Amino acid sequence: MPPVIAHLDIDAFYASVELLRRPELKGRPVVVGGSGPRAVVTTASYEARRSGVGSAMPMSRARRLCPEAVVIPPDFPAYREQSAVVMGLVRGAVDEVEVMGLDEAYLDLTGLLSPRASMRRLVTQIRAATGLDASVGIGPNKLVAKVASEAEKPQGFVVLTREQACVRFAGSPPRLVPGIGAKTAERLDELGITTLAALAKADPDVLTGAFGPRQGPWLAARARFEGSTHVEAVREAVSESRETTFDVDITVRDELEAQLHRLADQLCKGLQKHERAGRTIAIKVRLDDWTTVTRARTIAHATNEVEHVGQVALELLREYAPPRPVRLLGVRVASFGGTEEPAPEPVQLALPV
Ligand SMILES: [Mg+2]
Repeated sequence: MPPVIAHLDIDAFYASVELLRRPELKGRPVVVGGSGPRAVVTTASYEARRSGVGSAMPMSRARRLCPEAVVIPPDFPAYREQSAVVMGLVRGAVDEVEVMGLDEAYLDLTGLLSPRASMRRLVTQIRAATGLDASVGIGPNKLVAKVASEAEKPQGFVVLTREQACVRFAGSPPRLVPGIGAKTAERLDELGITTLAALAKADPDVLTGAFGPRQGPWLAARARFEGSTHVEAVREAVSESRETTFDVDITVRDELEAQLHRLADQLCKGLQKHERAGRTIAIKVRLDDWTTVTRARTIAHATNEVEHVGQVALELLREYAPPRPVRLLGVRVASFGGTEEPAPEPVQLALPV
């Protein structure tokens, strides 16, 4: 049976949740983001996007581009609540679901009699239950589905074969494809490869020469919209963390340790609330030059006590002894499920960098 994969993505999720509870803002540019000097845009409504405001943009820039924007601080509990409703409906519609975040998921529709009708129905259900709009892409693999769902936002509904995707996005820059970032795009540019079509038919030797024997062929395959069809239910979170970016880089050791303790305290309160405890304690430190290091240690018994977590985190921080001013600090506890589990490999603990 040929694989049929859908990607569903709520349109401007955080901003849309805010607009639903503040209908008086409808039609006005809305930006969800923090207020500190280093705050970035988490989501912009489509009205704000028209002024050039985009996700991850520094808030100061967003305010310059769109001075009339209404800025709302993020309310993650509210987003999680709406997300739970959305994902409940998604899981009710299809057995195989891979949730990719609060507002997007891959669905395996293989074998369904009418994949399109199923997805139309799901979008209607989500709208009825939450008031949120979603965009959907359907294709033979996750890559086609993902790019298709982005193609006509908001309220997009795009169904493409792999070949159709190649034709439709032939003139698009390589960066359109997830996994091809700014650096790679720049190097492709230097090779004169500025479109997906050019990348798809680029000389394999040239790509391998520039990007190595693994990434070279991979890039060409991405440009041909070859992708994974593996939709895998994501396990429950196996770690929980708190991190903070400081408004001003911290150089004073006592101050850094106080911040670390504060993060450990917040983290442990969260763990206790969720009745979770873990054995691996990790810290993440980003220096002012963006060097980012993580250090982890696994202890004998699961804990969610700030005395234990804070102590291990402090030891890790002292052992690392940041050589430069610290921009970001984080604490994580992982490997839930008690002491019966085999110890995980602490060095592989995935802390988002
Ligand atoms: Mg979204």
